[in-house]
Amino acid sequence: MNNFQYYNPVRIVFGEGQIKELSELVPQDARVLITYGGGSAERTGTLDEVRTALKANGQRDIFEFGGIEPNPEFNTLLKAADMVNEHDIDFLLAVGGGSVIDGSKFVALVSSLTTQDGTVSRDQAWEALTSYCKDIDSAVALGAVLTIPATGSEMNSGGVVNHSDRQAKLPFGNPLAYPKFSILDPTKTLTLPERQVMNGVADAFVHVMEQYLTYPVNAKVQDAFAESLLKILIEEGQAVKADAENLETRKNIMWTATMALNGLIGVGVPQDWTTHMIGHELTSLHGIDHARTLTILLPSVLRELKDSKKEKLLQYARNVWAIDSNTDTKQDDDSIIETAIVYTEDFFRSLGLPVSFADAALDESAIDPILQQLDAHNMVKLGEHKDNDLTVSRRILERALTGAA
Ligand code: NAP
Ligand code: FE
Repeated sequence: MNNFQYYNPVRIVFGEGQIKELSELVPQDARVLITYGGGSAERTGTLDEVRTALKANGQRDIFEFGGIEPNPEFNTLLKAADMVNEHDIDFLLAVGGGSVIDGSKFVALVSSLTTQDGTVSRDQAWEALTSYCKDIDSAVALGAVLTIPATGSEMNSGGVVNHSDRQAKLPFGNPLAYPKFSILDPTKTLTLPERQVMNGVADAFVHVMEQYLTYPVNAKVQDAFAESLLKILIEEGQAVKADAENLETRKNIMWTATMALNGLIGVGVPQDWTTHMIGHELTSLHGIDHARTLTILLPSVLRELKDSKKEKLLQYARNVWAIDSNTDTKQDDDSIIETAIVYTEDFFRSLGLPVSFADAALDESAIDPILQQLDAHNMVKLGEHKDNDLTVSRRILERALTGAA
């Protein structure tokens, strides 16, 4: 296992009815900006619960900013950042999914980058994003009410922002972006359309895979946690598909998705975010849902890199899919690995998710523009060995055309 420091300051408040805790969690004299998405939080009554809780105790001034898109847009977020300055906001409360929480983290980080007229400098904010927001040294406090289990954004310090005009979807990360708290009420997920539920299961699954499926460093805790999270997602993914109303299933999916990307399984181990980084280009060029870009790409990433990932792929086959090389002497290592990848594809398909370009109505003509964008965004040394250059990415994309071995 490699050396590491682990730090995660996010208070998690989990369970049915816990939104009322906002009356204690948000400072009583705060000037609060509630941020939310395209309307689901209003429709489902979650926003009303939030408003009621904030008014229940204290003298808070409350403002609202709605309309943060899925794959949150840079220009929209800067309008929210201007509102922070205009109203002297000192607490951001994100109510929604990964897009609203990521977007609010970005608002929290860039609000201090003001010009002389008090508005946030678009140029400076863009520059900050292109350098991962790592040099920003102050941020507005942030809390979250999560409405879709998927990204882990509620318990990490990262995010992703889309800039449509520039055809760029870029990640950022800064310890100042950790939420002070996140409220996870699993009953809030019952209103999700099935497509979003399945997207969430898949996003969490791929988060675990990208921290697990590299090469072994004898990190037993991280490996065993990762394998458990994968098995729970496989089991509960099927369960929620069969019975969407089961609250126990929703609880397990919600906590699993948070645990998948709160740093715990990623400490002291190599990581490979190739699938996410190529996936971001697929979203920004073709508008494909984040999780669906991942299910399209992951099987091809694993096939293309199966030699360098061989030991972990065999471990994955054995411990997650119970494909046992000892009892099935007919299978050699390569066919065990291929079986595990096929099982992974079957799992994604069973949730209604695409596993190839063809499934998403894309063809070969999509490949060159994706490679150009990867180049433009400096995504040319991906993977645990930093040797997935554009040639490797091209081979991954070519494999993804049909998805087959
Ligand atoms: P999302 O984009 O936040 O939301 C997807 C859709 O679900 C929206 O249309 C939203 O509608 C709707 N929705 C949310 N909660 C709902 C509910 N309870 N009932 C009904 N509809 C609901 O989805 P997400 O998958 O959580 O976030 C995806 C974003 O996170 C992507 O940009 C991705 O790149 C990023 N991401 C971040 C991390 C990270 O670590 N920070 C990791 C992976 C991915 P409304 O807009 O109307 O609310
Ligand atoms: Fe993701």
